[in-house]
Amino acid sequence: MNAPVKTSKLIKGETGDWEMVIGLEIHAQVTSKSKLFSGASTEFGGAPNDHVSLVDAAMPGMLPVINEECVSQAIRSGLGLNAQINLKSTFDRKNYFYPDLPQGYQISQYKSPIVGEGQVTVELGDGRSVAIGIERLHLEQDAGKSLHDQHPSMSFVDLNRSGVALMEIVSKPDMRSAEEAQAYVAKVRTILRYLGTCDGDMEKGNLRADLNVSVRRPGAPFGTRCEIKNVNSIRFMGQAIDYEARRQIEILEDGGVIDQETRLYDPNKGETRSMRSKEEAHDYRYFPDPDLLPLEFTQAYVDGLKAKLPELPDAKRARFMADFGLTPYDASVLVTERESADFFEAVLGQLADKARDGKLAANWVINELFGRLNKEGQDISASPVSAEQMAAIISLIGEGTISGKIAKDLFEIVWTKGGDPRALVETLGMKQVTDLGAIEKVVDDIIAANPDKVEQARAKPQLMGWFVGQVMKSTGGKVNPQAVNDLLKAKLGI
Ligand code: ADP
Ligand code: MG
Repeated sequence: MNAPVKTSKLIKGETGDWEMVIGLEIHAQVTSKSKLFSGASTEFGGAPNDHVSLVDAAMPGMLPVINEECVSQAIRSGLGLNAQINLKSTFDRKNYFYPDLPQGYQISQYKSPIVGEGQVTVELGDGRSVAIGIERLHLEQDAGKSLHDQHPSMSFVDLNRSGVALMEIVSKPDMRSAEEAQAYVAKVRTILRYLGTCDGDMEKGNLRADLNVSVRRPGAPFGTRCEIKNVNSIRFMGQAIDYEARRQIEILEDGGVIDQETRLYDPNKGETRSMRSKEEAHDYRYFPDPDLLPLEFTQAYVDGLKAKLPELPDAKRARFMADFGLTPYDASVLVTERESADFFEAVLGQLADKARDGKLAANWVINELFGRLNKEGQDISASPVSAEQMAAIISLIGEGTISGKIAKDLFEIVWTKGGDPRALVETLGMKQVTDLGAIEKVVDDIIAANPDKVEQARAKPQLMGWFVGQVMKSTGGKVNPQAVNDLLKAKLGI
């Protein structure tokens, strides 16, 4: 794997180069049947206020009780982020007043979070890797939701989400471009999905991020940052960061200063706008929640969770590269979703010659199968081509029974009509012609019919491609291109 390196993509301003500095706060909903401090269900899509206990509604005298499942999920997430697990942490009250927050405060972790510093390795499009630092991960409650569209003159509140456990994952200000920030969010999402600690469903808002963006002259101290709240699409994150950095550069180049403020991204207009300035910022008056004891567990408990973690994407990627000679890029694509990696492994499991066909299998799974699934807007669980069928097609190519070109036709037939690829090759006569005599006859005929082209090809060997094309055409693509090339070279004397 490439050594993690820090890189920058500088932005050209009118007065010189600028560098972006980005730090993210990701809010990830913990996968758990019940809420952080109550037994109410976390199920999505119930009727408003169906999943609300007396604790979530903050009735007087109700006391929170920590849900162990949420604690172990946070620890597992911390382990997946290569982070320090704190055996003792505390819960604090973050006080603010809002209709969807019946307690009048959110229970969060302030000074002493359950997870401390960690690191995530992020792969970029050009094959480079960067290491992004994690500052902390803490547990907190989600708020409810105000409904403003149910009545002409009143707002309603739905407390189903009130009290659901969130993990807030705070990065260090280590990202230097929108691409790095996007790749970081995608990687954290992948890790959490592998762990099963957050489903990563961004459309439902189960994973969203606050984007802290500032700009500076390369090498200068950090500038003042703005925070763009609650973005729940990786594409919009990229747009919001680029817009925000440009906005700040324009202000600075005009001799202005950046006000530290909270902003919102408007995807329709493609711009960020101010929500509140630092002066209007809340004073949360944090203090330790007197209803909750410090959260304490043993190292043995952590070790027990660690021993049961699944193989994570970085390890899987390294294994795919080492065992099957996959490129870093191909390996990254295959491990992005655990289901895709599992499918690839199921294909490999069916191959008679993994060493010979492993790389071919990666190409076919990524380009033909994933490509086709993307086109149809389907994911791997809905693939009409099974791992067995995929492996059969790949083996048929690897052993030379069919050409790569014919294999695409075969894939199409299996995709649309199903069937056993080996049997289909027999019944549909798709086998590659391996009889050298037969190929030679075709080559001889084409050479004899085109003396002018023969002369041209002798003068300019690249023109041999024309002959290869002719042979393919007259055999319906059923000959091995290498054999054709070898024969042509010999016959044309090039
Ligand atoms: P707060 O608690 O006020 O949100 P933090 O210090 O916890 O402030 O930082 C929040 C996020 O802002 C972190 O992800 C951090 O990496 C990022 N950050 C801090 N300083 C800067 C900066 N100058 N430019 C960009 N991001 C920053
Ligand atoms: Mg913040």
